[in-house]
Formats: sequence, structure tokens, C-alpha cells
Amino acid sequence: MIKHVIKIKKIQDSSKEADMNSVKLAIIIPCYNEEETLPHTLKKLWDVIHDLIRDRVISADSFIFLVDDGSKDRTWEIINTAHKRSFCKIKAVRFSRNYGNQAAILAGLKESEKLGVDAALTIDADLQQDVNKIRDFVQAYNEGYDIVAGVRNDRSTDSFFKKICSNAFYKIINILGVNITPNHSEFRLISRNTLNILSGFHERNIFLRGLFNELGLDTKYIYFDVKKREYGKSKFSFFSLLRLAIDGIVSFSIYPLRFVFVIGVLISVTSFFVAVLIILDQILKFTLITNIELFKIWMTFISGIQILCIGIIGEYIGQVLMEVKGRPRYIISKELE
Ligand code: UDP
Ligand code: MG
Repeated sequence: MIKHVIKIKKIQDSSKEADMNSVKLAIIIPCYNEEETLPHTLKKLWDVIHDLIRDRVISADSFIFLVDDGSKDRTWEIINTAHKRSFCKIKAVRFSRNYGNQAAILAGLKESEKLGVDAALTIDADLQQDVNKIRDFVQAYNEGYDIVAGVRNDRSTDSFFKKICSNAFYKIINILGVNITPNHSEFRLISRNTLNILSGFHERNIFLRGLFNELGLDTKYIYFDVKKREYGKSKFSFFSLLRLAIDGIVSFSIYPLRFVFVIGVLISVTSFFVAVLIILDQILKFTLITNIELFKIWMTFISGIQILCIGIIGEYIGQVLMEVKGRPRYIISKELE
């Protein structure tokens, strides 16, 4: 690693003039329990950054920004060691606890903005995304795009179950009126202009994929092949992915609340006709409603629908409560400049 740092120092000295025109880039990596993958990731990224600085694609004061999302393993220790050897090319913060991947990315973006970057690129700690595409991302930024979004060519590395869930999620969220590009990942470059705009968004429940689409800024999509995770396991459980999906829907669409209203109207109308039938049945002895079992099934079904609707409303109330409290989105307990 030291070998690469020395190379970077040399470029710093010889390319001051060219640097004035090249992009000061922050590469932001959220990390949660990534002790297995992080040493390999940092080594690989060093090589990429070194090449980009050598070719004057990015400036010599570009840096890697690691956000330790409250890891319980040796992640922070590894970050500390890398920081000491990096001559400030690696900066980092550590959360007081696990706040989730979206908060970690957001913190990286906010901290990079303070450091005066021209652009910030986010990428996962396992480098499943194609690092060789970073050059194309910067190129697109130079062409004037405010957002350069990485889109997976396919989901071949995902399990069958994850593939079905992701496809269902993108279909449902699009039906609910949220404009999200399917298979868009958190591999994304945003300009300083976009960073400034982002600082105007104060919501606690943040769903970045939806948010960046919502801004309507000039966006370029770059397609890449996803690799298999080489070291460690995915840090998302089924439930954390479900939570992310629900948060995404709740923060961008009120269609589910309309669904509750429509269901209410439908049940009321149906109940009215059922009531009329029961009354006629009693008076005229049609014996239409004799099947009490059918009635029980209907009642159970309605109870289920009611609880579902209360759950949907509850999600929105929960989000409102979190927003109203206005608590910090994350707490930074340690910092490496
Ligand atoms: N991550 C995080 N906080 C979490 C979960 C994940 O910062 O609570 C980070 C993780 O370390 C990685 C990125 O988010 O850098 C994506 O996670 P992962 O690769 O496990 O997700 P997958 O590829 O399975 O979708
Ligand atoms: Mg991954």
C-alpha cells in the first residue's frame, strides 16, 4: 500500500497545473462489518485512483471516504491503519451505532461536500460494482451531467428469491407512481451542484434511489456487470431489505393511503348489499344466506383487510412521527481527517 502512496505523491508534485482542471473526486464507501473485504477493496481502489490521477482524470487531492456504520468487527481498526498509511488519501467517520446503508451514504456525501469536492461517487465496500467504470462516470460528469447512475446489466449474481423480490419491488413502486430506474444501484456519481441541492432535503427517512430520480437533474445511466461478492456475506437480511422497500414506498408515494380509501368504499358498498340480502332473506324466507361458514370466511377476510389498512396507515404515522421528532439522522462518534 505504501508503494502506491509514494506513486501518488509523485503525481501530486508534477501535475499541479493539470490538477486545476481535473475533478476533485471523493469515493464514498459505506462499511458495515466488512473486515473480510475491506483490505482487498482498499488495495484495488488504490490502484484505480492511482491510474486516474496519473491520467489526470481526477485531481491529486481526490480521496476515499469510508463511513463505518457502527461495525462490530475489526472494520474500524482496518480503516485506522489504512488512514495512517494513506497521507490523508483515506478519510473516515464512524457512526456511534448501526444506522443503515442509506444513512452511511448520506453521511459520506455530506462530509465530502464540506471538503469541497467537485463530485462524489458512492460504491459498495465489496466492490461488486465495476471499478473500471469510474473513469466513464467522471467522463460523464465532465460532459455536464449532474448525476451519473450505475445500472446493473442483470441480476445473475442474486439468489432466485432476491431476484423475484427485487423485480416485484421495482414493479410495485413504479405502479405506485414512483419513478425509479429498475436495477439502479448505489453506484452513483453526483456533482457538487447535486450535493448542494441534497443539503436542502432534511427528511430522516431517506431513500436515495428515489430521491435522485425525483430531482429531475441531467442524468446519465452507465450499465455495468455485477460481480459476485468475493469476501464476506451480504449485510442485508430479508427484513432489512423489506424495511428499505417499505421506507422507499412510504417516503415517495401516498397511493397506499388511497388504496385504503378505495378498499373502505368497496367494503362499505358490498356490506350494504349483503345487509339488504340478509333483510330480504329474513322477511321473504329466500334462504339465500344460509351458509354460516361462508359468512365466517367473509368476516375473517374483512378483518384481515382492516388490519392491513391499519398497518398501512401505521407506516405513514410512524414516518410522520420520526420526521416530527427531527432527531439526528446519525451520530458520528469518531473521525479521521
Ligand atoms: N451497509 C451499511 N450498513 C448496513 C448494511 C450494509 O453500510 O446496515 C453497506 C455494506 O457494508 C456495503 C453496502 O452497504 O458496503 C452494500 O451492502 P451489501 O454488499 O452487503 O449488499 P448487497 O450487495 O447484498 O445488496
Ligand atoms: Mg454487495
